[in-house]
Amino acid sequence: MGYWQENLECMSIDELRTLQNERLRETVERVYKNVKYEQDKMKELGVEPGDIKTYEDLYKLPLLTKQDLRDTYPYGLFAVPMDEVIRLHASSGTTGKQVVAGYTQNDIGIWGDCCARALTAAGATKSDFMHVSYGYGLFTGGFGVHHGAEKIGMTIIPVSTGNTQRQVNIIKDFGSTYICCTPSYALFIAETMKEMGVTKDDIGLKAGLFGAEPWTEEMRREIEDKLGCKALDIYGLTEIMGPGVSFECTEQSGMHINEDHFIVETIDPDTGKVLPEGEQGELVFTCITKDAFPLLRYRTRDIGVLKREKCSCGRTLVKMLKPMGRSDDMLIIRGVNVFPSQIESVLLNLGNTNPHYQIIVDRVNNTDTLDINVEISADMFSDVVSSLETQEKKIAGQVLSTLGISAKIHLVEPKTIPRSEGKAVRVIDKRKLH
Ligand code: ADP
Ligand code: ZN
Repeated sequence: MGYWQENLECMSIDELRTLQNERLRETVERVYKNVKYEQDKMKELGVEPGDIKTYEDLYKLPLLTKQDLRDTYPYGLFAVPMDEVIRLHASSGTTGKQVVAGYTQNDIGIWGDCCARALTAAGATKSDFMHVSYGYGLFTGGFGVHHGAEKIGMTIIPVSTGNTQRQVNIIKDFGSTYICCTPSYALFIAETMKEMGVTKDDIGLKAGLFGAEPWTEEMRREIEDKLGCKALDIYGLTEIMGPGVSFECTEQSGMHINEDHFIVETIDPDTGKVLPEGEQGELVFTCITKDAFPLLRYRTRDIGVLKREKCSCGRTLVKMLKPMGRSDDMLIIRGVNVFPSQIESVLLNLGNTNPHYQIIVDRVNNTDTLDINVEISADMFSDVVSSLETQEKKIAGQVLSTLGISAKIHLVEPKTIPRSEGKAVRVIDKRKLH
């Protein structure tokens, strides 16, 4: 598999650090000068741009949180005059008020390069057909990968979300070889294919880049099996850019972070202290090439682990392991911390069940309750009606032994859990409503 920008993707750590330091100094200066809010925060801590000479000085800068974005909504952290901003996007608002991001022409170009790296790492070339089922709109997904595919010169099919049967027909008839969407939607497409009598041999997908929500290795295997293509992970967030902040190569063991554009740190989510590379913590990004919206030390709330080692693909860019979820997605059930993705892992490892599930948390008589609705496969349903209860108990036993919490499992008929065209809604936490 090739590279999009080999000299940047494979540079030595010394070259990388030199480049990062230069870009960091320049960005901090510019932000200090142009963004009053950041300047005030730095002044409060007694930090000046001159104090930030290398990436090792980053810890001196204030951390930014989603609250800072809300306080400055919509444009308070932009670092260029509005007439240089040629595009606005906004987060999908999964967790609260939406966040607005701005891009200059140059920012869009860099975004395209980052996504082109991801696609090239997956083997895409200009001869390929790029089927984009991420939404086009304020959500960054569709446009981001579109810009990348355009740079490569792929034949783009900008389908956007919706009408899944039509999506299947297009994949088949137009000859889509690459696809981008959320992993949960990829499975929905697979399911729809099955209903339509379309098999993986009828389509020509080589690989899919799936992201925008957490997913597990088990889910990856399901997708690869059902769509007959490689399933690669791509990560990003509106605040930092959108998809393409990091991307998986075909080694499938973590996503390379585009470190020449984003410096990554991991911090202890409780104390904010920087952790040594390799320890699990909250990922914090600093943009060092963005004009319009260059956030410094932005707390993602995504919990991840960094791995810096030479990858078999030849890239030297640090890798982040699949984020398990956001710190604010983490459920605390009777004092036990659980991520929905851990539950997914247990469910899918058992076989028999489909990767469609919903987790319902409530509080009854001051005690947290955990209910998991999970679909079983169609064959199973007709087969084992008599032993559903046994199956439910078995799954509950597995959840208990793996995660240390008791749960009530409800096996439900295929297709009773709502499908999503974008990010799946996995958790309903009713405790928040009381
Ligand atoms: P919102 O915050 O409204 O969901 P975004 O589209 O900006 O809007 O979502 C970005 C978030 O999506 C990330 O912070 C992360 O939690 C999640 N995400 C994106 N890509 C991945 C991925 N490949 N794996 C796990 N989580 C991801
Ligand atoms: Zn690699």
